[in-house]
Amino acid sequence: MLLRPGLGWMALWLAAASPLAAASGPHVRFSGRAAYRYTAAVVAFGPRPPGSAAHRRTEAYILAQLRRDGARIGRDRYIAHTPIGAFHEENIIAKFGPRQGQILMLAGHYDTKFEPFRFVGANDGGSSTGLLLEAGAVLAKDPPKAPVWLLFLDGEEAVKHWTATDSVYGSRHLAAQLQKEGMVPRIHALILVDMIGDKDLDVARETNSTAWLNSFVAAAARKTGDSRYFFQQSMGIEDDHIPFLKVGIPAVDLIDFTYGPNNASTPGPYWHTAQDTMNKLSAHSLKVVGRVVMETLRMLEAQ
Ligand SMILES: [Zn+2]
Repeated sequence: MLLRPGLGWMALWLAAASPLAAASGPHVRFSGRAAYRYTAAVVAFGPRPPGSAAHRRTEAYILAQLRRDGARIGRDRYIAHTPIGAFHEENIIAKFGPRQGQILMLAGHYDTKFEPFRFVGANDGGSSTGLLLEAGAVLAKDPPKAPVWLLFLDGEEAVKHWTATDSVYGSRHLAAQLQKEGMVPRIHALILVDMIGDKDLDVARETNSTAWLNSFVAAAARKTGDSRYFFQQSMGIEDDHIPFLKVGIPAVDLIDFTYGPNNASTPGPYWHTAQDTMNKLSAHSLKVVGRVVMETLRMLEAQ
């Protein structure tokens, strides 16, 4: 048996090169620390319900980051008629990549729930905003091959108690608008993120979501090596993806609805409480969800 050093070297080189090749792409650029910093910045504004000064400051902050990223910005303004009165609200849409082609959407809400106590929504409203802002920074550096729109949705929270008419004001408005404009057939898929910063990350398989999109996310999580954080349990959750599903847009909701230690209960002890603060979140969880989302977008782009 003759040792052939050339081929041996080649095999070693391939062995070394292939994991590197598999690890390239926009999901690697996604920084959990940066997503955490963006989240902390909006949480520092304080409670951010529609109509508040902190809500306006959050909008200005989001717009400033998106302008830095060179996004084409759309502003979907509407009036939300709620049980406690009318509010001027606004979905912010940031467009990246080509103008032509099937559109991929990544969505999350930036409003926080009206509460009599100090509710800063670090996970609920903050984490989705931080993840989307870091996605914008990644897309600015690695322009996508298909159009990618980031949707910063307003008015997700119920003003009083969650009903069909007191919830998801922003997504209901935008979905109706897209339908009116005949845009629905141009939209390939929508990925929604909500409450994805919990240190104890446990993203549910949300059962209203489009089945093939759930499969794409599961495949992306296998690729990034993050399967253990995804789909260990299934549950049906009403969230901002529902209005888009209703008009015929394939949509998936990535949500960790066991917000508290040991993932012991649903929705978890910190949900909609004064306990929803930055110290319950981790940069690592934001990184896990961020890179799975970026990998899912890349896989959809290639479809
Ligand atoms: Zn909430």
